[in-house]
Amino acid sequence: MTVLDDVRELIVALDKRTICDDCITNKLQLSVRQYANQKSRVLAKSPLFARNKDVCSTCGKIKYVIRHQYQQSNNNNLSLTEKIHIPAKQEKNSPRIFSNTPSLNELKAIGFKHIGNWILEGGVLKLNQFDMKKSIPALYAFISETNILYVGKTNQMLAKRLYFYAKPGPTQSTNIRINANLKQAVLDGQSIDIIAFHDDIPKKVGSFILNLSAGLEDDIIRQISPLWNVRK
Ligand SMILES: [Zn+2]
Repeated sequence: MTVLDDVRELIVALDKRTICDDCITNKLQLSVRQYANQKSRVLAKSPLFARNKDVCSTCGKIKYVIRHQYQQSNNNNLSLTEKIHIPAKQEKNSPRIFSNTPSLNELKAIGFKHIGNWILEGGVLKLNQFDMKKSIPALYAFISETNILYVGKTNQMLAKRLYFYAKPGPTQSTNIRINANLKQAVLDGQSIDIIAFHDDIPKKVGSFILNLSAGLEDDIIRQISPLWNVRK
């Protein structure tokens, strides 16, 4: 079975009850939340499924949710899955499966700190609760809950670098791509947080400053393989 099949089966089994992307991720133990989001959107193109902002029947939060709906048909020719009421599996009071994903914890352990989040205002991305004091050159990441979506590094002031994700220039293909991803994620009801790492006390090799961010970037991206980073 493909992930799409798994997601479809789960939603059908919920018998018209709503489920959000995060709960799909948890129930199917998907490694990346974005898979649930993508599959839910694919299914929502079918008249058998409806996706909209509503209360998730599993977690109780107001989010983008999907539900199965019976196809309107004159004959009584419902498919097997539609005839049989399959009760949803008993939801255990288990912690979110991402809560112990090592990657985000490891970033925090080496000194990544939360410095703000993205919001949409009039269709434009804006930095929210952004800590300007920490806006020095840094290694940074965009995260959704504990999913690391994107890792980048800048030698500019961080606020300046992030501005280009909010308002990309016409030739800035990476900025344009990340801008579209960020907007879509925020529209989907995800909270996209920004975490950043910088050297408080830069190390020196002889008289030269060791750029720790530059040294860490490659291997962090290699090990975590964030969804929005293009594989090199
Ligand atoms: Zn939910």
